[in-house]
Amino acid sequence: MEDTVAILVGAGRGERLGAGVPKAFVPVCGAPMLAHAARAFAAAPSVAGLIAVVPEERRGEAQALLAGSGKLRGVANGGARRQDSVQAGLALLADGFDGVVLVHDAARPLVEVALVEAVAAAARRTGAAVPVLALAETVKRVEKGRARETVDRRGLATAQTPQGFRYEVLRRAYDRAFADGVEVTDEAVAVERLGEPVEAVPGSPRNRKITGPDDLSWAEWMLGGARAAYRVGTGFDLHRLVEGRPLMLGGVKVDHDRGLEGHSDGDCVVHAVCDALLGACGAGDMGRYFPSSDPRWRGAPSLGFLQQVVEIVAGRGYDVGNVDVTVVAEQPRLAPYTEAMRESLGRGLGRSADAVSVKVKSSDGLGAIGAAEGIAAHVSVLLRERRP
Ligand code: MG
Repeated sequence: MEDTVAILVGAGRGERLGAGVPKAFVPVCGAPMLAHAARAFAAAPSVAGLIAVVPEERRGEAQALLAGSGKLRGVANGGARRQDSVQAGLALLADGFDGVVLVHDAARPLVEVALVEAVAAAARRTGAAVPVLALAETVKRVEKGRARETVDRRGLATAQTPQGFRYEVLRRAYDRAFADGVEVTDEAVAVERLGEPVEAVPGSPRNRKITGPDDLSWAEWMLGGARAAYRVGTGFDLHRLVEGRPLMLGGVKVDHDRGLEGHSDGDCVVHAVCDALLGACGAGDMGRYFPSSDPRWRGAPSLGFLQQVVEIVAGRGYDVGNVDVTVVAEQPRLAPYTEAMRESLGRGLGRSADAVSVKVKSSDGLGAIGAAEGIAAHVSVLLRERRP
């Protein structure tokens, strides 16, 4: 019986990625990293079985995620150290197993089938194999905040996973490491300690380990190629002109004998911009965040709403591309204010005025706006998905 089994190690707590979720279960493009990592092994022709090692309370979830691969052989409880987790996975191998074991970090969700096959083939041939990447950058030895020395990087490489071993080689290596009371940071180290050869296989830059939020954004971007990189939104608002209020449009005070009615400062231009931004990222509308029933917003400057909306947009992973505004008003004449509105909206958006257009139209005397009973604003926005 000689086959190849992959052990996916996802026992880490991954505190740096936040949300109190174990790293292997942090979602990337809607699916846990473990599920993405498993895909290449499920598709690799040489891999016959999958074993996952996860925190005990996540075993059921891992089982459900991997059952569809048709290769799942079991799910083990993670241990305190990496080698304890791998050991727990090895314990699920059938008695007399004498094939190849591939050990892979679940936090490398972009592993590819070609790399899995290359490592499996090298391990079968030589007994042990590790994918490596040459160092791209100059390496310094840094002590106490000072670069002390430039290290010759020739001959240096970083190690990735999956690392592959004939079972008996890994078994002997682990038995020795446990007997010696040594903690090993990856499996290849245990074999190196035996003085036995570990073949270096070219790794892949895509096969990056996800450790921090920037890596996570990168993985989202790499795995989400099919998603739209841009989103559009439209906004509309119309307020009544009344006596005794200042006229605020686009955050600019306009000279007029009447102003716009409203719970806040009534700035229909800013309100329409906010609605367009929220609409573009599927985050509802202004009423959801700034209800007119809330006394906090009475007389509030609407540019403050805009700043909060820009934060909501950023929180969803988008940057504002451009904003195009049409203000429809019979009175007063707004052309002298359009540049100031562009500047003001640009500041509110955290962009330059170049990102904002403001056009003014009359309603040719038709309807309520034509009768100067109110002022309306129409807005289109474009959001860009933020690239890592
Ligand atoms: Mg409004």
